[in-house]
Amino acid sequence: MSEHFTNRPSQTKKLGQILAKEILKEKTKKGAQVLGLRGVLGGGKTTFLQGFAKGLGIKEKILSPTFVILKKFEIQKPGFEFFYHIDCYRIEKPKEILGLGFKKIVSGLQNIVVIEWADRIQEILPQNTILISFEFNNKDKRRITIKWPRKSV
Ligand code: ADP
Ligand code: MG
Repeated sequence: MSEHFTNRPSQTKKLGQILAKEILKEKTKKGAQVLGLRGVLGGGKTTFLQGFAKGLGIKEKILSPTFVILKKFEIQKPGFEFFYHIDCYRIEKPKEILGLGFKKIVSGLQNIVVIEWADRIQEILPQNTILISFEFNNKDKRRITIKWPRKSV
């Protein structure tokens, strides 16, 4: 596990960007790389993802998909296909996510999948999910912990 403290949104984005680059280097051979994000509203999950998407070379802006549960972006890097941004904020049962083709998405070798509010679908997260928690220290300070199943970043 690694622990990070950030003092402003730009630092949280930078952390996301660094992690994305790390993942591009460490391509998994067992299905998609899944990242599960958890933590309270305003914790910085979407902010982190904006940096993360930038690190993947995605040009589109990442927004909090309030009414959209799943968004798909193309990754323009050799060996990769799609970046999925899933937000489970409005999800009550894992079944709702399964209904969106979740199993197929996470078995695609060339996909990177990030799930906000991942704790809502804990029981269907793949074993190699990287777990990232966001906690408030005060208004602008966040504690971000990364639990990498194979190694620490
Ligand atoms: P979540 O997706 O977890 O609900 P967001 O990323 O949408 O959170 O919102 C985080 C909010 O907190 C933003 O308004 C952002 O400007 C603010 N913020 C202040 N300090 C930080 C920080 N260190 N890291 C991330 N966001 C921060
Ligand atoms: Mg969010």
